[in-house]
Amino acid sequence: MSAPGSKIPPRPHPPLRLGISLCLLGEGVRYDGSHKRSSLCHDALEGLFEYEGICPEVAIGMGVPRAPIQLVGDPARPRAKGVEDASVDVTDALANYGRRVAARIGDFAGYVLMNGSPSCGMHAVRVHVAVRGPAVGRPAERRPGARHDRVGEGSGIYAREIMAADPCLPVVESVRLEDAVVRESFVTRTFAYAHWKLLGPQRESVGAILEFHSRYKYLLLAHSAAEYRRLGRLLANPPAVGDGELASRYIHGLMSGLSRAATRDSHADALVHLVRSLEPGLNSASRRELTEAIEAHARGEVPRAAVLTLLARHQGSGPNGLVSGQVYLEPHPTLPHGRNML
Ligand code: SF4
Repeated sequence: MSAPGSKIPPRPHPPLRLGISLCLLGEGVRYDGSHKRSSLCHDALEGLFEYEGICPEVAIGMGVPRAPIQLVGDPARPRAKGVEDASVDVTDALANYGRRVAARIGDFAGYVLMNGSPSCGMHAVRVHVAVRGPAVGRPAERRPGARHDRVGEGSGIYAREIMAADPCLPVVESVRLEDAVVRESFVTRTFAYAHWKLLGPQRESVGAILEFHSRYKYLLLAHSAAEYRRLGRLLANPPAVGDGELASRYIHGLMSGLSRAATRDSHADALVHLVRSLEPGLNSASRRELTEAIEAHARGEVPRAAVLTLLARHQGSGPNGLVSGQVYLEPHPTLPHGRNML
């Protein structure tokens, strides 16, 4: 719920709408008819997201099964060509399709991509770089003048267009979701970004941006003290820019900061700031109890969820309910069946 007079809409409820590489949903759309079903997307994140599966290679008419493609050329601007027949070049078709999809996914809160794919890979996709000349340090059969391959890394052709169209969109590769910290960060960002989008035209208002930031600042502090300070300076003295420039600078900073991994120390720092915001409404016993819990959390003796529960219990004693609207207390809904990513 939003406070009376608030410019900020209530936070979004799950399920949020997400794009996903179709093979991760268990559809047999890979070049050989297989799939790469992600149990994490289905089970670990169950209830949080509603997925729209997209397979760019099938969408451009390559069919199943199909001859595989690979990235070749300059890793910064690779081409997607046939592995066996290099005259097959689907780069432009994939890029055009990516731009068409990007233009219609304004309601997506994020995107889960299949790692390693020349179409869907977010980064670190193998790019085969053709080289002519002496192969220094290569086996003897690689004679001077012979053609050989060096391998670089780049982004999939389709993925590159999706990310370029909206750099703030939370995007993650499925394999990275196996890391609990990355998983929590991704979910947190999707809910923050969906909330920001709910602001609609209010995003043009400095007052609305300030109020939005007041809800997210401790969450941001836990992820990036540098971005917390930078946005604090930006909003303390907002530049006279128009056409959504301030909103754009703000959300880029917020999403960039939230993409950094929070550590136990950075969480402890955010918690200390939160407790300070409760003062002077706290009595000394409450302050001591919270401080000790935070220190125990920083030492790894107490889970963060326990400190947050304690904070929630004490927030009623804070001035003007200052802490109660803090997203940091609940960055995203608890997972079904009582599971929690904290
Ligand atoms: S990685 Fe992308 S292009 Fe390849 S099968 Fe999956 S959805 Fe299709």
